[in-house]
Amino acid sequence: MDKLAIDGGTPVRTKPFPKWPIHGEVEQKLLMEVLQSGEWGGTARIKLAELEEKFAAYHDAKYAVTVVNGTVAITVALQAAGVQPGDEVIMPPYTFIATASSALMFGAIPVFVDVDPDTLLLDPDKVEAAITDKTKAIIAVHIAGAPANMTRLKEIAQKHQLRLIEDAAQAVGGRWENVGVGAIGDLGTFSFQSSKNINSGEGGMILSNNEAVAEMAWSLANVGRIREGGWYQHEHIGWNLRMTEFQAAILLGQMTRLDEQIALREKNAKLLTELLQDIEGIEVFKRDPRITTHAYHLYMFKIASGWTDRVSKDDLIAKLGAEGIGASPGYVPLNKNKAVLAEIEKWTGKRREFDCPVSERASEKEVLWLVQNMLLGTDEDIHEIAKAIQKVMRSYS
Ligand SMILES: *Cc1c(COP(=O)(O)O)cnc(C)c1O
Repeated sequence: MDKLAIDGGTPVRTKPFPKWPIHGEVEQKLLMEVLQSGEWGGTARIKLAELEEKFAAYHDAKYAVTVVNGTVAITVALQAAGVQPGDEVIMPPYTFIATASSALMFGAIPVFVDVDPDTLLLDPDKVEAAITDKTKAIIAVHIAGAPANMTRLKEIAQKHQLRLIEDAAQAVGGRWENVGVGAIGDLGTFSFQSSKNINSGEGGMILSNNEAVAEMAWSLANVGRIREGGWYQHEHIGWNLRMTEFQAAILLGQMTRLDEQIALREKNAKLLTELLQDIEGIEVFKRDPRITTHAYHLYMFKIASGWTDRVSKDDLIAKLGAEGIGASPGYVPLNKNKAVLAEIEKWTGKRREFDCPVSERASEKEVLWLVQNMLLGTDEDIHEIAKAIQKVMRSYS
């Protein structure tokens, strides 16, 4: 048996993965245009208007509103959807904390509903049981870039007259039944923070097909103004949450590579899945056939259920790291986050508990992540990832 690198053996890989972000002359040219125009702010509408139009069209949405980041994009989307302090918002716990903190920012209450073990996406079968007369909205999170089951979630939302919001921070370019994510629900939100699949350092976007809701989102992000109104005419309480022209320029540049990068991530993820499913002790996630495009912000895989007693996640991650493959343990589910629970208690006066065994098991024992830029390399890179995982897994048997 090959000696593991952690024990002094030769690592499978020493080469770095493709650097992120990827940028070039397009971004330089667009940034210089903004710089020289002297119109840098978010009201100038030079590159911002073009970005909103292109990004909306890319996701089959009618309306787009740029904002400062993905967190406030969710807050604004919830408020534009009519969610009020005290209203309950159903969401999965296996997500970034911003999904919950964006609601808690104004006293809307997250209600955690567990994910489907086959996908780690919000389990529609469990959503209905969590609906109360306080429930106002559902947030479907397209975790890892995989669109959640929007068909079922939309049916449930319609049946109970709830707003459906997509947290698509990880799913730029994702498609469900060949429709772009973001406006399959009432509103969808995106993030352009540094790690995301297109990035401008920071940034966010809201999409919708509902004109009134989109106008409200625009107003909330533009200090309560209305589009045709006066500069000091504030019809709502809103804030300055505008993106700058510089960010829009970078994002327009990033969008020119999006198709190509999506195709490459899909191709490499497919190869990786084929290789990993043959490794003893490793299990790959199922892909719903209705997912036309998976954005693969993350590639997730898991330690097979019969192996979790023998293989600890931390140990596997340390050994893979030594072999040159950096894997992440991923989220601690939000139903286990003390700050989130304390904030819910602060707003409601009640201590709440949420039963989410699938998310907890994924976090504690099973699931590992590889980040998106690891899927932007060559076939050889993918073979080396699989080879390292194979090598380390063999050492446990
Ligand atoms: C990144 C992310 C956010 C927040 O976006 P920011 O731009 O960092 O504020 C929200 N939800 C999910 C699922 C994310 O991955």
